[in-house]
Amino acid sequence: MVVILKPGTPQNDVRKMVAFFEAKSFKVGVTVGVDCTILGLVGDTTALDIHKIEQFDVVERVTRISEPYKKANRKFHPEDTVVDVSGVPVGGGSFAVMAGPCSIESGEQITAIARDVQSAGAAILRGGAFKPRSSPYSFQGMGLPGLKLMLEAKAETGLPIVTELVSPEYCEIFDEKVDLVQIGARNMQNFELLKEAGKMSKPILLKRGLSATYEEWLMSAEYIMNEGNQNVILCERGIRTTETYTRNTLDVSAIPCIKRMSHLPVIIDPSHSGGYSYLVEPLTLAGIAAGADGIIVEVHNDPLHAKCDGQQSLTPEQFGDLMGKAEKLVDFMGKTIVK
Ligand code: PEP
Ligand code: MN
Repeated sequence: MVVILKPGTPQNDVRKMVAFFEAKSFKVGVTVGVDCTILGLVGDTTALDIHKIEQFDVVERVTRISEPYKKANRKFHPEDTVVDVSGVPVGGGSFAVMAGPCSIESGEQITAIARDVQSAGAAILRGGAFKPRSSPYSFQGMGLPGLKLMLEAKAETGLPIVTELVSPEYCEIFDEKVDLVQIGARNMQNFELLKEAGKMSKPILLKRGLSATYEEWLMSAEYIMNEGNQNVILCERGIRTTETYTRNTLDVSAIPCIKRMSHLPVIIDPSHSGGYSYLVEPLTLAGIAAGADGIIVEVHNDPLHAKCDGQQSLTPEQFGDLMGKAEKLVDFMGKTIVK
């Protein structure tokens, strides 16, 4: 971290600032320039609050040299992390396909879709029991009874399941029953929820917030990892831009950028990114070409009557076609779809 002091700062104040940082166990290098004095802090500055330092009258500006995230940082963990989701590897050379309905609607629905996506090659079943909706008047999900139906679909097919955790009150049951715990875009900065997720033993799928920067997203991963849970998968699910024609905008750059910044696996959600079923295939292919480690995609056996997100859901047939195309590109990228 570099602390730039205001021009003309008296020597005595420079010494006071140096002593302040030395008392916090930093080594301080002092460079006296013509216009200003610069303090170079050596040590772990993660816990230092830039804004607090800027409150000192003599401080002009503070700049971080190293990133505030450590555990998620590739610098300290050069090799790719591979997250094991009940036997399905996510990251490294494997490509994981998670598929299923936006929300669980009935036992027949979730089990039929589970069978369909499994036979088309999905490795993990998705489905929401708790649905954080923009409107309180929209279907909110079946809650725990929905989770029970999803567990029946899991028992029937053997597919591991991914479903969204919306409150710490469900951590215990999710930790026992769910294979991959989803933290949704709207909760990406629900720090109390992140801390509880960090105490869980199951891997976490952390979706990017609607307007989150890469650093904010990685800091949220850091919250989880800092509590002990190192198994975090990041999901780019489209961000808010000036464009209104699509639901969100898939930030393809996020994939190579996050992979440069972090060792964690990155998957994409082509369904919530585009918001329309016709966009799922092109966005999936773009994601694979950019280096994604997997997809989470919405599939419904009757999209017209889906309780949630039917307009962006693929039919099982469309999902089968998508898998055929995806497989070729995944292969070209030197990865293998996990079955
Ligand atoms: C979902 O995957 O069902 C979902 C609600 O996604 P997001 O949090 O990305 O909106
Ligand atoms: Mn959805």
